[in-house]
Amino acid sequence: MDQKLWSRQAKGQSQIFSTYVEKEDSKTMEPQMKRWKGSAYDTDSWVAYPVLSDEQSQDIELTDAFAAPILNKRETSRLVRELNSAYPLNGLQHIKRVRACREKGGSYPLEVLVCLRSDALHIQAVSIECLLPPGMGSDGLGEPFIVKVPARPPLTRPQFEQASKHWPTSFHEDKRVTVALRGELFTPPQKATMHTYMMSAVAAAQAAKKMGLEAVGAVVVNPSTERIIAVGHDCRANHPLHHAVMVCIDLVAQSQGGGCYSLDKYPACRFMSPTFDTLDSTLDVDLKSQPYICTGYDLYVTREPCVMCAMALVHSRIGRVFYGTTAADGALGTKFKVHSQKDLNHHFEVYRGVLSKQCESLHE
Ligand SMILES: [Zn+2]
Repeated sequence: MDQKLWSRQAKGQSQIFSTYVEKEDSKTMEPQMKRWKGSAYDTDSWVAYPVLSDEQSQDIELTDAFAAPILNKRETSRLVRELNSAYPLNGLQHIKRVRACREKGGSYPLEVLVCLRSDALHIQAVSIECLLPPGMGSDGLGEPFIVKVPARPPLTRPQFEQASKHWPTSFHEDKRVTVALRGELFTPPQKATMHTYMMSAVAAAQAAKKMGLEAVGAVVVNPSTERIIAVGHDCRANHPLHHAVMVCIDLVAQSQGGGCYSLDKYPACRFMSPTFDTLDSTLDVDLKSQPYICTGYDLYVTREPCVMCAMALVHSRIGRVFYGTTAADGALGTKFKVHSQKDLNHHFEVYRGVLSKQCESLHE
């Protein structure tokens, strides 16, 4: 690596930026490798799970409805047609009208959803005759009973499985979310790359710890060139707002000619010259064509960011955030989910658990 391209490149710090493939045997890394199970590429030791919005991750909401047995199967299509017209399931198009009888060896094969309980609040004594609108014959229907049906369409496979236990529900599956929830979104080579980025953040956190600062480190990466743009760590001795993420964003801004933090005291906090962050380093980089601070970039941070840092990530237009361990006041999953707030004008994906053990051990 051409160290001239790095700003604030300090002696002995270059390993933070090098890929750990080359450095696995280096003296610097050896004690850590022994302490951590396996090698630096022990990517089986961690799983990245998505931090989904509340709508996607909460338990499904249920609502009461009346169902009734279909005593004569041949009446099914007429009953469904008449019930659809008498009691349309407005806003509940995800619910199927008919289900197979759940009782084994039951005396009837099917059950039909008659109406929602909220459609029949005026009815005192519930019988099938009372529930049906005038003119609709109750032929072929048994006595009604209460069931619970999902009030909203399921957004994820776990929600779908939960909903289906109550009543048959249709589901438009987002396969990517399903795979992500299984912890299988990233391939082993992708995980190895993610591993090296988080190792750089861990190294920055360790540098902070050595200086008596909070052991939190962060790196901003351009995933299209697979290069690290900036590395930062907690610098609260400098200024109470200089959390690792704030430092990292300022360093990205500095790499684009902006930024305002003075971090000379902290050699592990550095940014990369934009000329280096191109696939062909001989190309002239037009600074005006640079992204808006963090557009398209990924952040790797050892600990879940706080509200201030999460909002700074919204404002800087980060692409994705990966963190190692959760924080009690964390704003990307634990206490808030700033990345999925509907009323904010930028949203991003968040994954937790990258190098979780190493990130947790920073705070021991
Ligand atoms: Zn913070």
